[in-house]
Amino acid sequence: MAKLQIRKIGDDVLRKVSRPVEEITPRILMLLADMTETMRAADGVGLAAPQVGVLRRIVVIEVEEGNVLELINPKIVATAGEQEGAEGCLSVPGRHGIVKRPQHVTVRALNRYGERVEIRGSDLLARALCHELDHLDGKLYVDRASYVEEE
Ligand code: ZN
Repeated sequence: MAKLQIRKIGDDVLRKVSRPVEEITPRILMLLADMTETMRAADGVGLAAPQVGVLRRIVVIEVEEGNVLELINPKIVATAGEQEGAEGCLSVPGRHGIVKRPQHVTVRALNRYGERVEIRGSDLLARALCHELDHLDGKLYVDRASYVEEE
């Protein structure tokens, strides 16, 4: 496993739309492992492939310690409710902002074995799913935040 370099706001790669994964190759599995290591080393709860310079629809999320969600080609299929709260991003260091997100989110994706999975998240997990999936479409939370401040 290797720790990857996290791209920072201002880097064009963060503004591009990522392509779907067509085949889960050993290279993709290695990317998943490296992304998890990178996320943990940076003390984050989520990381999307474009944040490490790879324009593929892949995210890892670890809201609950030890339970890493590896999502390939994830798609939000349902949302409910609303929450407003503080959000930060490993690609936007030293800042946080207030962002409105759905309270509950349902996501369909593939896991590392190519099986279809459905994830239902509330609260922080719902927020993390929305935040990470936004990265796959070149969006950053600062685009949606009502308020952003330096830490
Ligand atoms: Zn982010």
